[in-house]
Formats: sequence, C-alpha cells, structure tokens
Amino acid sequence: MELVETPDAMVAWAERHRHDRVGLVPTMGYLHRGHVSLMELLRPRVDRLVVSIFVNPLQFGANEDLAVYPRDPERDAEKCRLVGVDCIFQPQEMYPEAFQTTVSVGDLTRGLCGARRPGHFEGVCTVVTRLFGLTRCDEACFGEKDYQQLMVIRRMVEDLALPVTIVPGPLVRDADGLALSSRNAFLSVEERRRGLSLHRALLAMADAAAAGEVEVPALLDRARGRLDVDRPDYLEVVDAQTMQPLEVVDRPARALVAAFLGRTRLIDNLAVGPELSWT
Ligand code: AMP
Repeated sequence: MELVETPDAMVAWAERHRHDRVGLVPTMGYLHRGHVSLMELLRPRVDRLVVSIFVNPLQFGANEDLAVYPRDPERDAEKCRLVGVDCIFQPQEMYPEAFQTTVSVGDLTRGLCGARRPGHFEGVCTVVTRLFGLTRCDEACFGEKDYQQLMVIRRMVEDLALPVTIVPGPLVRDADGLALSSRNAFLSVEERRRGLSLHRALLAMADAAAAGEVEVPALLDRARGRLDVDRPDYLEVVDAQTMQPLEVVDRPARALVAAFLGRTRLIDNLAVGPELSWT
C-alpha cells in the first residue's frame, strides 16, 4: 500500500496507473466500518483502490468542528491495508496557492444540510471534483449516510459529464441502530444513548408509512415525540430524488434528521414509502 502525501504525487501515481480501472473512496479519516464497507464495495470493481483522507476546510462553517475533528492516521492506514487498498492519498494541503474556483449545485443543495450549513455542499463538490481530477478515478463510492451529499454528487457528475461512475453504499449502523459516524467519538455515554433516538424517530415514520399512513405532518408528529436530543436541527420527509419536501408519501421518499447532542451534530436518514431503485 502506498502513501501519497501531495497533489503532485497523486497526479504522478494516476499517470502511472492510467491503464488501470481506478476506484476512489473520499473520506475525512477516523475510519469506521461505514467507510470500510464502501472500500469493500469498490474493491472487486476496480484494479486500483484509492482512499483519500482529508479534512476539507472548505466544507466547514466558521463555528463548526474543523479544529477538533478526530484524527488517527495510523489506525486508518491499518484498516485500509486490511481491505486491500492500494493507495492512501492523505495530503496536508489540497488546493493550489492561487486557488479560486468552486463548484456549486443548485436546488438539491438548498434545503436540509445545505440550508443549515451555508457553503457546505460547495466545499464538498469542489473537493470531490478536485479529487476526481487528481486521482483520475473511474468509480467513486459515497455512503447513503450522507444522503443529500450522495444526491448532490450524482447530479454534479451528470451535469458536468464527469467520467466517474458513482456507486452508492448502504448506511452502516451499530448493533443498537446508531448510524456510524466519526463524530460519534465526541459523544458521552449519555449523549450516545439519547443519540439512538434519531434512528428510532426515523423508524417510527417508516413503520407508520408501511402501515398505511401517508400524511407527512402525521408522520413527523410521531417522529418528534421520539426524538430525545438537546437541539433538533431539522426533521423532514422529502422526495427521494428531488429532495423537495413532501406533504404526502405517494412516491419513494426519504426521512432525514439532524440534531445536536451537546455540541455534536448527528445526522441520519431512512427510506420511507416505496423503495427507490438506483438505476
Ligand atoms: P466522512 O469521512 O464522514 O466524510 O465520510 C466519507 C464517506 O463515508 C461518505 O461517502 C459517507 O457517506 C460515508 N459514510 C460515513 N459514515 C457511513 C456509514 N455509517 N455508513 C455508510 N457510509 C458512511
């Protein structure tokens, strides 16, 4: 396994492997089974598997947790080695000094995390586009954990005709239902216990929808009653493809929640109503 630590060295690596099918899993490190599941999904599909580890300042707001985001490069490298990753791209600096280009996607980024974290998706789209350029990847895997991000990246790739196949990876949870996240490391025992209420609130909506409830306000009421958090950020049911809010679940829909436990912001989501096919 190679460790590549600068954008120039990444370009040189990509040039050496230009005849291989290259897969990329972009991450911010502090890897867990959710990240590993994406690597395992891509591994058999490509000749060379690259994992990028970069805590991207562009996608953090001024009052967010950039400075304290958890890091453990040695443990991350061990996890990557076990999955058979060929290359870890872990640069200190990602952008050229004169950098002045950003990529922004429209309506899909206006609600939910886009509304709560101004500039976030522009930061994500910009770094992902640069990672695609540096690694020359043919495929890239993104988790359904960040459902809005996945939809935004798919839109961007189609709109800009980027030659990359986007592979969605299922959301991986702990045995008790908590969505795995690097930020779970910040939670106290008590916060973690109450953090389970995000999944429970989503399940309550999915169960009620499966039992025939289609009115979104009624579904949201059920979910709100189950949330046990310090500060809800959003709780919504949206069209699974357009991400527009729904009043009635009459098509594939997604319930999404974000909430603070102490200073830690957690997100989670679940399919509601008819399943969406990823074709
Ligand atoms: P992050 O390091 O949080 O930026 O995440 C990197 C990638 O891993 C993104 O595509 C995430 O959606 C994905 N990911 C994070 N947590 C999970 C999880 N619990 N299950 C599946 N994918 C995940």
